[in-house]
Amino acid sequence: MKKVLIANRGEIALRIMRSVKEMGIRSVAVYSDADRGAPFVQAADEAWHLPGNSSAETYLQQDLIIEIARKSGADAIHPGYGFLSENAQFAEKVEKSGLIFIGPSSQAMRQMGSKLGAKEAARKFQVPLVPGTEGAINDLEEARQIALSIGFPVLIKASAGGGGKGMRIVHEASELESALERASSEARSAFGDGSVFIEKYIGSPKHIEIQILGDQHGNLVYLFERECSVQRRYQKVVEEAPSPVVSEAMRQAMGDAAVRVAQSCGYYNAGTVEFIVDEQRNFYFLEINTRLQVEHPVTEMITGLDLVKEQIKIARGERLGFTQADLRRNGHALELRVYAEDPANNFLPDIGTLLEYKRPEGPWVRVDDGYEEGMEIPIFYDPMIAKLIVWGANRDQAIERMKKAIDQYTIKGVATTLLFGKFVLSHPEFVNGTFDTHFLSKYFKPEYLADRLSEEELRIAARVLQHHIGEQQKQNIQRYQSQDSWKRR
Ligand code: ADP
Ligand code: ADP
Ligand code: MG
Repeated sequence: MKKVLIANRGEIALRIMRSVKEMGIRSVAVYSDADRGAPFVQAADEAWHLPGNSSAETYLQQDLIIEIARKSGADAIHPGYGFLSENAQFAEKVEKSGLIFIGPSSQAMRQMGSKLGAKEAARKFQVPLVPGTEGAINDLEEARQIALSIGFPVLIKASAGGGGKGMRIVHEASELESALERASSEARSAFGDGSVFIEKYIGSPKHIEIQILGDQHGNLVYLFERECSVQRRYQKVVEEAPSPVVSEAMRQAMGDAAVRVAQSCGYYNAGTVEFIVDEQRNFYFLEINTRLQVEHPVTEMITGLDLVKEQIKIARGERLGFTQADLRRNGHALELRVYAEDPANNFLPDIGTLLEYKRPEGPWVRVDDGYEEGMEIPIFYDPMIAKLIVWGANRDQAIERMKKAIDQYTIKGVATTLLFGKFVLSHPEFVNGTFDTHFLSKYFKPEYLADRLSEEELRIAARVLQHHIGEQQKQNIQRYQSQDSWKRR
């Protein structure tokens, strides 16, 4: 493998390039109009333009991206996360074009890409599943019977769903029919597949996932767990490894179950097996994400492994360089997703220009980002600015380091989740580790962001200043022009 095309943007494109470079492999970037001049474009050995801005016009252009890979002489494509990363059709096209897809086989992706397909495969390998319907719902009466037998509330989920979308809680039998109809038609328009199923709604769950790695020779290992229970809109905001509530026995049981999920579909490369954990610490398989995960750095920090390098070695057909027994955990890592979102306004995206942007620095701090000061956050894609990651010898130390790093992080021009992150890390429920996925709705009130007012004031001040500088420049130009005309006179 001499040249890799990275079919993605922003922080993850840059992060993949770093490992590619370290391995002595050349990198090819692709970029949309809005991403022209982005750090990931500059960092690549070569960059090819994808005309347009929307994802559909650019980063989802399967054939165009494969054509660029061929023209540029790349021999592999890394899809990152999001965009085409879980698209089995794309993986298959890449395979058929003679290029290497850095990920699992398209066959495994197809099977596991649907939540129902994944559950069906896992069931045969004795992996615990959330009680619910076994297949897509076709028959209302049957669905009602199952819902009644597992007990309300139940959760309707779209088999093709992802990114926290396509889920609906149903509290009583009378709501079931209309909820199923709406969920199915939403799923059809959002994911092109109207299949929905029912799961028991776990009232106070934790989201805990297992990172797995497998080579193409049948060797599989698990790289321990990540705790991702701090969520908004069923999406993660703070992640950590290890989980504060997982015992050694539970870790091993979950790890073994995750490896069985992988075996059930002949999985290789990196993947994440997601579980939901109830109050009694029973764990149930949710789905497998057949790609590099946003929060993979916390696993890298505690294992010392570079997951992107491992992905590339696996894609080249190499054997894993270690067995389960060789793997050790060291210390504790935390990640905060820094979004251009306003926590005081329901976490709505707040797009704008990074008028000031200063990263925290120092040992044990890692910032994976894709922007520089003065850049604009485009409205076309995910509004994540950065991932702030810290390591500590233990959880308390990691928490303290994260709080300091947040203090040192300066972002002006857009609202961010930084202060919200500080709120989470300071909350006693987070500190004692027993929080569930409802942490935010239970404990967070926008008023708690005490510094918010001054942040907001600074933001306005920065905008005023920018306007002022602009006005001054205009005046200078006018002055210059009038001087000029005076001279000419
Ligand atoms: P992770 O567990 O890695 O955090 P997410 O579910 O947050 O995974 O998805 C990772 C990225 O992919 C995010 O940028 C998210 O917005 C995007 N994504 C995943 N699935 C979908 C989907 N079905 N529709 C839109 N965006 C998605
Ligand atoms: P997605 O593909 O959108 O990531 P998941 O099945 O992984 O879908 O679920 C996303 C989140 O939704 C979980 O992390 C959890 O917070 C919540 N969730 C999923 N299934 C259940 C369930 N059966 N009961 C309660 N919460 C659930
Ligand atoms: Mg998920």
